[in-house]
Amino acid sequence: MSDLPVMQDGFGRRVEYLRISVTDKCNLRCVYCMPLEGLPWLRREELLSYEEITDIVRVMAAMGLRRLRITGGEPLVRRDLPDLVCQLAGVDGIEDIALSTNAVLLDEQAEALRAAGVRRINVSIDSLDETRMDAIARRPGTLRRVLAGMEAAERVGFEPIKVNVVLMRGHNDDEIAEFAALTRERPWHVRFIELMPTGSNLDLSADAYVPAAEALERVRELGDLEPADGPAGNGPARYFRFPGAPGSVGVITPMSHNYCASCNRMRLTADGQLRPCLFGSQQTNLRDPLRAGADLRPFIEETLRIKPERHFLVQGSDRGSGGLVALSQTGG
Ligand code: SAM
Ligand code: SF4
Repeated sequence: MSDLPVMQDGFGRRVEYLRISVTDKCNLRCVYCMPLEGLPWLRREELLSYEEITDIVRVMAAMGLRRLRITGGEPLVRRDLPDLVCQLAGVDGIEDIALSTNAVLLDEQAEALRAAGVRRINVSIDSLDETRMDAIARRPGTLRRVLAGMEAAERVGFEPIKVNVVLMRGHNDDEIAEFAALTRERPWHVRFIELMPTGSNLDLSADAYVPAAEALERVRELGDLEPADGPAGNGPARYFRFPGAPGSVGVITPMSHNYCASCNRMRLTADGQLRPCLFGSQQTNLRDPLRAGADLRPFIEETLRIKPERHFLVQGSDRGSGGLVALSQTGG
C-alpha cells in the first residue's frame, strides 16, 4: 500500500486535481461565456502572483494533489505563462500539467509552454466556419488564429490534443458531423459539451441547449461508433470512436447526466479563492491567509469538508450557479 498522502472530501471522494485560473480576462467574448462589454476585471493586486500560486500548489501537493490544469479567462493573455509552468513543474508530487486555451495566442507560445512542462492541451473551437466562429467568439479573425495555434500544438508535440465544442442549437449543431469526421483524419479528441446556464447567458442557454445524446445520434449517422477509453486526463467525458480512427469523439454532460459522484477536483480562482465546486457559492479565501503568512492546510481541509455532493444547476435559471456570471470567473 502506498503511504502517499491523499485528499478526501466529506463524501469520500479523492481529490487530486486542481484547475488553476491565472486570469479572469480574455481576448474573446464567446456568446455563452462572457458578456460583450466584458466583466469588472480584478485589480492587479487582487491577482495571485506566480509565486503565490506555486506556494498554494506546494501546500496542496504535500496533502495529495497530483495534477494541474491551467485555465482562465484566457491563460495565454497573462504575461510569461511558461515561467509559472516551470515553477509548478518543480513542485514535488505534481505529475501532470495541462492547459485549456482558446488557442488564439498559441502559435507564438506553444514551444515555450511545451518546453516549460505542459504536456496536454485542450483547445476550444465552436465552429469550423470562419464567419460563424467570429460571430460566436465576437472577435474578427479568430478561426484562422485558432487553427494556426492547433498546428503549432501538433508541431511541438502536445499529446493528446482535445478539442472542446460547446453545443448550441442554431449556432453550430449542424456542424456536429463535420467535427466528428475530423477524428477520422487526425489524432484529435473532439468533445461535445452541453451548454451550462450562468448569469450572463440565461436566454441563450435556455434557447440553444442541445443534449449530448442528440449530438451522438448525429455522429452515428456517419458510421458505427465503438466505446473508447479516451485520451489520458482527469475529465468526466465519455468517449467513442469510429473503428480504426486515430481520434475519438467524447461527450461532456453536466446537464443531462452529471458526474458529480466521481468528482476529483477543486478550483483556484485568479484572486486566490479555492472553490470546491464549479457552481454554488462555497469558496475559501486562500490569498489573504497566504499573504499574512498563515498555515494554509486548515483552510484547504475546510474546503474539502464543504465540497458539495453535487451541483444544482437548472436549465434556464441561474439558481444553483451561486451567482456565477460567467465560467471565465472560475476557469470552467
Ligand atoms: N479560455 C479558455 C478556453 O476557452 O478554453 C479557458 C477557459 S474556458 C472558461 C474553459 C471551457 O469552458 C471552454 O471549453 C469553454 O468552451 C467552456 N465554457 C465556458 N462557458 C461555458 C458554458 N456556459 N457552458 C459550457 N461550457 C462553457
Ligand atoms: Fe474566453 Fe474561453 Fe470564455 Fe471564450 S470560453 S470567452 S475563450 S474564457
